[in-house]
Amino acid sequence: MTSQIATTWPTDVLLRFLTIVGATVDVVPQPTTALPDRHAAICRGCEASYFNHVGVSYDLKDWAQTHSGTCRALPRPTA
Ligand SMILES: [Zn+2]
Repeated sequence: MTSQIATTWPTDVLLRFLTIVGATVDVVPQPTTALPDRHAAICRGCEASYFNHVGVSYDLKDWAQTHSGTCRALPRPTA
């Protein structure tokens, strides 16, 4: 399997996990919420997400790691 790993990340991505088919699960802050410490892990393949109210916790990273290890949704083509 060949995959492209971006060498530059969007500025809001704090952590990035690569899925087995080349999508990413990104951990990002949620600036639009009234809760300043809220972060999310978002799969760029299937768009599943997990939200957290206490920063980048173990639970958030664990969800991102586990999801990236099992998700087979392909990322949407960019061109
Ligand atoms: Zn997914």
